[in-house]
Amino acid sequence: MFLPIDIDSVKGFLDPKEGEALYQHCLSVKDLGPTLEIGSYCGKSTVYLGAACKQTKRTLYAVDHHRGSEEHQLGEQYHDPELYDGAVGLMDSFKAFRFAVRSAELEEYVVPLVASSKVAARDWKTPLGMVFIDGGHSLEAALSDFHCWSNFIVNGGILAIHDIFPDPNDGGQAPYTIWKMALDSGLFEDLGVVRTLGVLRRKHG
Ligand code: SAH
Ligand code: MG
Repeated sequence: MFLPIDIDSVKGFLDPKEGEALYQHCLSVKDLGPTLEIGSYCGKSTVYLGAACKQTKRTLYAVDHHRGSEEHQLGEQYHDPELYDGAVGLMDSFKAFRFAVRSAELEEYVVPLVASSKVAARDWKTPLGMVFIDGGHSLEAALSDFHCWSNFIVNGGILAIHDIFPDPNDGGQAPYTIWKMALDSGLFEDLGVVRTLGVLRRKHG
């Protein structure tokens, strides 16, 4: 795997093994269309997916309103004061995201959609080779991401979902719930879980 920058310099919530899996799966769908991620934060997953897209000359759509998830808000467990815009009283990870994408020389391949997942999906029509869901972790947000985007995945395409915790003691259940829904739908084949990254392939026919 070739990464254009020191990935540890990018803030984020992705294990290197999960990043490598994203990269490899993204390469594997090179003939199936663009990739889209929901939840870019400061661009860690974006760099892995973007590097694979650059190598195969495809586009990565990076959806994030950059206002943070529940756990990033002021006073919450994963709040980062460096990403807080005091002037407007909101989180803003977009500047850090742009810095990472530019440093990694991925601007020709990454299209940021600075909007909520629902708004970005409103008029979406383009079939996708891969969707990576790593946005809000409320059940409502996870269900919405799943319903908004999973139908755009072409046959043979990849659906990857982050923060899969089968045991509720290890973490929130919303991503696990949509991962199960995808499996139970019968439309996806289970390609396994790497750490907390669940990977599924859309079946043919
Ligand atoms: N993939 C990132 C981590 C994402 S953290 C990494 O590799 O480090 C989750 C991100 O989802 C946050 O940046 C937050 O702003 C975004 N998010 C949460 N709910 C969202 C929604 N409804 N629409 C768009 N983005 C959302
Ligand atoms: Mg995550």
